[in-house]
Amino acid sequence: MIRIGIDIGGTGIQIGALDDNYHILNQASIPTCTNIPFEAQVDQMVECIHDVLRPEINPELTMNHVLSIGAGIPGIANAEGTVINCTNLGWSYVPLREAFQKRIQKPFYVDNDANVAALAESIAGISAGTSSSVFITLGTGIGSGIILNGKVWKGFHGIGGELGHMILKLDGKPCSCGNHGCVEQYCSASAIIRMAREGLADHPESCIHAICGGDPGKINAKTVFDALHKEDPWADQIFTEYVSCLAQTIANVTNFLDPEIIILGGGVSKAGSVLLDAVRMEFPKYVLFNDQPLPRVEIASLGAEAGIIGAAMLS
Ligand SMILES: [Zn+2]
Repeated sequence: MIRIGIDIGGTGIQIGALDDNYHILNQASIPTCTNIPFEAQVDQMVECIHDVLRPEINPELTMNHVLSIGAGIPGIANAEGTVINCTNLGWSYVPLREAFQKRIQKPFYVDNDANVAALAESIAGISAGTSSSVFITLGTGIGSGIILNGKVWKGFHGIGGELGHMILKLDGKPCSCGNHGCVEQYCSASAIIRMAREGLADHPESCIHAICGGDPGKINAKTVFDALHKEDPWADQIFTEYVSCLAQTIANVTNFLDPEIIILGGGVSKAGSVLLDAVRMEFPKYVLFNDQPLPRVEIASLGAEAGIIGAAMLS
């Protein structure tokens, strides 16, 4: 059978058709259009699904073989398939399942993109074969997904798993959510960029200064990691502060949930072993029972395809 996965992002929508072994048989993408009505956005996605179903590529790629359709969104949705909020798309309380099922009569599921990535890794990625895992996306913001007994745990009301807005520092940096000191303000790529920009004028000797030519607007998270590779002391200071916050967050997850594995994804995770080694070294310090076996901490393995694979596996 075929499962369709739709990865709805802020700039583009990727649609893929998976076989029973979670392999993407065919995929296509369309730009995210926010200046057209919701129904027209759904029409475009449905058209793209039809484009992906090409029996000349594989005889199973027909609508008759489609078992289900799933979508991952940068927002939240309820069990009825209504998107409660998805700021990037301009969606608020839109009946996504109803709109799809009016056009294609197949089971349709929608979930948050971090939950979808967590599910993908637990089925076809680094956490395959585990029964409990927590996925943390270290991007512009912080997303997180919890898998318990092979299923996404999104809470009784569907609004759980928001690790990014747990408070890490009392009266800390103001957050977009209205609170202060959220994990997102210290563990996202934006946090690294903020620290680098704030201190730029005080560190004219730093490689960061040289890489960005003194222009704070040109700093991204990679700038700091590039400087770190050149053993730049100030980049090391930023990295140490970042790792400390991320390690405390991972320890909080461990103390509270004790999952089998914690997976780091998103832009910052591209730093790879330099990040992983530092975090693995640091987080046990903050774990209560740290003389016991601890969760494995790993980097996500599926990359950009996680969005399609996880969405297709929603049920
Ligand atoms: Zn917040």
